Amino acid sequence: MEDYSKHIAIIGAGISGLALGNILKKNNIPCVIFERYSDISEHGAGISISPNGLTVLKELNLLKDLKDISGNPKDAIFYSNLKKITQIDVNVITTSRKSLYKVLLNKYIAMNGEIFFNHQLIDFNLDNKNILFSNNLSYRVSHIAACDGIRSICREKFIDQTQPTYSGYSVWRAILDKEQAEIRFHLGSNFHVVTYPISNNQTSFVAAIKTDKEEKDSWKQKGSIKDLESDLPFEIIQEYESLKENDEIYKWGVYIRPEIDLLFKENITFLGDAAHPIVPFIGQGGCLALEDASIFGNLVSLYKNDYLKIQEAYKRIRLPRVKKIHHSSISQGRLNHIKNPILKIVRNFMMKYTNIISITTSKIWNYDPSSEIKKII
Ligand SMILES: Cc1cc2nc3c(=O)[nH]c(=O)nc-3n(C[C@H](O)[C@H](O)[C@H](O)COP(=O)(O)OP(=O)(O)OC[C@H]3O[C@@H](n4cnc5c(N)ncnc54)[C@H](O)[C@@H]3O)c2cc1C
Repeated sequence: MEDYSKHIAIIGAGISGLALGNILKKNNIPCVIFERYSDISEHGAGISISPNGLTVLKELNLLKDLKDISGNPKDAIFYSNLKKITQIDVNVITTSRKSLYKVLLNKYIAMNGEIFFNHQLIDFNLDNKNILFSNNLSYRVSHIAACDGIRSICREKFIDQTQPTYSGYSVWRAILDKEQAEIRFHLGSNFHVVTYPISNNQTSFVAAIKTDKEEKDSWKQKGSIKDLESDLPFEIIQEYESLKENDEIYKWGVYIRPEIDLLFKENITFLGDAAHPIVPFIGQGGCLALEDASIFGNLVSLYKNDYLKIQEAYKRIRLPRVKKIHHSSISQGRLNHIKNPILKIVRNFMMKYTNIISITTSKIWNYDPSSEIKKII
């Protein structure tokens, strides 16, 4: 048994885990990260970070590092299929998951942050705070931060064993060798496509399809261009021609997990997807993970080892926010796939002639974790 009894154990080196490690190190709080794989994720997928997530990266002094290796679109253009509806200014970074993980990990290591790879958590004891890994190593720690993602073993063991249900949506993803300056949304009947630059010469392509055919809940399941062609209109495939030369196309099912009311239990606190898995239709899962890390990390710094106080404050700040985003994500899925022609005209009219997009996004994007903490102290 390794003695790490003064350290917070962070389970998972994903977005919330790495961001939390950075915030704790910055505040001189002992912590250690455990990751099941031998390295950070290599998934070739894109992620868009909106201003609420960027605030956390700014707090960590990482904005420039990430901007330098990412796409920095200035506009988002909305289309009905290929017909332009409207255009708005945006202040977001669109990047690859790999780049975001890398920037977070490099900074954590530069602050002498400790990380153990090949450590898959398999069990823990909440009373004596012992954690056990599949390599048979065990550690005694001061607290556990569960940052182990959408299929969290921590959540399954302590909060919720309910099986997720298929949402009625499947999603395609690919990275294209294509330059693109802006974010594009193509809204169609029963599908929508989002594309954005993740670097100077690569573009992320994501297509959500409404379908009764259940796909597996797995990011690693490969699909074929033939299947993709049968899911999307011909003109969309033509618009993103390089899809045809791409043999790295993936398709997976989107599953809805029950809404969570507990963000902690005894000596364990949940962050990111482990706390509140959401469907991906407003691109906020990663941003919420960054917000969680900032708020939990700064509360630990504020209240030191008083975890009762830390956890109560964390729940008070986070629960209303994550519930709201959980519901908005599900509604946005429906709105993006409207089939009824009259409703479609109304939606497109509202998007073109009112401020509905800015109003909706600003409610989500104008969230500042540090001012949320100030409100409760
Ligand atoms: C199609 C799609 C598009 C998305 N687009 C966006 C977007 O544009 N913007 C956005 O903000 N969000 C987006 N998201 C959501 C976002 O990717 C997730 O919400 C985010 O990655 C969650 O971060 P996390 O830290 O909770 O988990 P992850 O980043 O998934 O990290 C979990 C880590 O824990 C490790 N782990 C798991 N189990 C164990 C164990 N037992 N022991 C040790 N380690 C373990 C994993 O290997 C992994 O490294 C999207 C999601 C999807 C599916």
